[in-house]
Amino acid sequence: METPRITRWLKKRRKLMEEVLAREDLIRGSLVKTRKKCGRAGCHCESGEKHRHVYLSVGGPGGNTIVYVPASEEERFRRGTRSYREAWKLLEQISRLNIDIIKGGHRDG
Ligand SMILES: [Zn+2]
Repeated sequence: METPRITRWLKKRRKLMEEVLAREDLIRGSLVKTRKKCGRAGCHCESGEKHRHVYLSVGGPGGNTIVYVPASEEERFRRGTRSYREAWKLLEQISRLNIDIIKGGHRDG
C-alpha cells in the first residue's frame, strides 16, 4: 500500500526524471583545448598567437575517440557536456530514491 511518504518519494522521482528528460542535449566526453601552428608560410601563428582548437574526447573500451569541435559549435558542446554531468547526478539521486522507496515500502507495509 502507498503511504504518504512513498507518494512523496514517487512524486520526487517523477520530478527528477523530468529533469533528466530536459537534458536531452547531453554529450558524454571532455572538451580539450589546444593551440597549434598550422604550418602555412607567412601565417601569424609562425611567430604570434597559435590557432586555437577544441576537441571532444570520448572515452570508450577501445580508448578515446576525438571529435573536432568547430568554434561555432563550442557552446553547444559545452552545454551538452554540462547536461551530461547534471543528468548523471540526477540518475544517482533517482537510484538512491528507488532504494528508499523499496526499503520504505517494506517498513511501512
Ligand atoms: Zn597558422
